[in-house]
Amino acid sequence: MSETLFKKIINREISADIIYEDDLSIVIKDIHPQAPTHLLIIPKKVIPKLSDSSIEDQEVLGHLMLVAGKVAEQLSLDNTFRIVINNGAKAGQSVFHLHLHLLSGRSLNWPPG
Ligand code: AMP
Repeated sequence: MSETLFKKIINREISADIIYEDDLSIVIKDIHPQAPTHLLIIPKKVIPKLSDSSIEDQEVLGHLMLVAGKVAEQLSLDNTFRIVINNGAKAGQSVFHLHLHLLSGRSLNWPPG
């Protein structure tokens, strides 16, 4: 399988605006932001989509949530943000390497489009 776009970013083969990194994850700014703050929280392990994850991914999945909260706190987002995971092309997924979108800085409508 060819390397995913996000794996290339993790491996520094493609540049990105990296705002956080640890052993299990990396956080970058989305290249086409849909809100004043739009981050992607990405596991270093390549899981194509959430529905491909299994019990062995429990730690990393929980970790991504905790990183989202930590980064939101560091950026002083006033405890106001939305986390989105697009699962599958029909749900809007375009990069098949699991990632959480963190959106903040504007009002966010419900239901999402
Ligand atoms: P999704 O459509 O849920 O798979 O989200 C993929 C996201 O990756 C989109 O919001 C894109 O704007 C973003 N994206 C694509 N290429 C890059 C890149 N090189 N650096 C940062 N974000 C990217």
